[in-house]
Amino acid sequence: MSKQPRILLLYTGGTIGMVTNPKTGSLIPFNFEHMAGQVPELNKLGVDLQAITFDPIIDSSDMRPEYWIEMAQIIYDNYEDFDGFVVLQGTDTMAYTASALSFILQGLSKPIVLTGSQLPIGTIRTDGKENLISSIQIAADKKNGKSRVPEVSVYFENQLFRGNRTTKHNAEYFYAFRSDNYPALAEAGIDIHYNTNAILPVSNNTKPEFHKSFDQSLAMLRLFPGIQKKLVEQICRLEGMKGLILQSYGAGNVMTDQWFTDIMRETVDRGIYVLNVTQCRAGGVKMGKYESSKGLIDAGVWSGYDMSLEAAITKMMYVLGKNMKRQEAEVCFKKSLSGEINEDLIASD
Ligand code: ASP
Repeated sequence: MSKQPRILLLYTGGTIGMVTNPKTGSLIPFNFEHMAGQVPELNKLGVDLQAITFDPIIDSSDMRPEYWIEMAQIIYDNYEDFDGFVVLQGTDTMAYTASALSFILQGLSKPIVLTGSQLPIGTIRTDGKENLISSIQIAADKKNGKSRVPEVSVYFENQLFRGNRTTKHNAEYFYAFRSDNYPALAEAGIDIHYNTNAILPVSNNTKPEFHKSFDQSLAMLRLFPGIQKKLVEQICRLEGMKGLILQSYGAGNVMTDQWFTDIMRETVDRGIYVLNVTQCRAGGVKMGKYESSKGLIDAGVWSGYDMSLEAAITKMMYVLGKNMKRQEAEVCFKKSLSGEINEDLIASD
């Protein structure tokens, strides 16, 4: 039997494997064999690499919750047979996928590293090769027989981030992702340096918990100065909506108009879970710090603390998918399931 670490790679699409359509000049997803053929270094890595290609391979703008469950199912089914997992997908929705996977598969003892690239792997200045090779190395890396990074992460441009803390912030430069509210889990230089204290502990379970039902009956309300009552009403009264992500200002602040507080209260009273996250990329919601957010507490709106928008949306899908009662949902939003919230913020709430 091979002693090499076994890595399962899921290729879902994205720029990393794209080629130019000669007719239109646009980039389109292409097959894994083509991509792997561009990286002969894969044979020198000392890992037993197996690959599964999604059907169809997609531009990640077409990502859907069903695909997240499908990815998680593949990882779950192959969990015992591999030491780590690498998911290749487009960068556009990678932060959503990473967040979703961190809620679908909880209690990991093995790494799930997501990566992609800004330039296709077949192009001369591609960032894809380094991203791919380092991701495989991180997924395979162990210390004292235990995986170095047993969580869902995103590797990009020499840095490894906690997946549910990432956001795509740059559509131009190789440095495409940020994690403003949580430090990098690892940095790749000549060696890979792990920030051990920041990494989730290895779970003792042989298999992770697999939470398969996601419900996307949610909406998002992003405030802006001058937002009209009728728009707020229409969003909050959307038929079939069960969860609402409120994107507020700064530390969770909203306008003090009575009509707004009334609509929020009425929304909560209709059984909708309303979660307050900030429009800021760094820092988080501290409801009650300013007068302008006190009304939300009374209305029954919950704090999203320092969760990213991507984490808030996918956590809401997770909670709704479980059909949680209000009290249970509140408990779930007031704890960190997979490192998506700074627990000090919850404690000081
Ligand atoms: N549109 C591409 C995608 O997300 C962009 C990328 O891969 O970076 O699939």
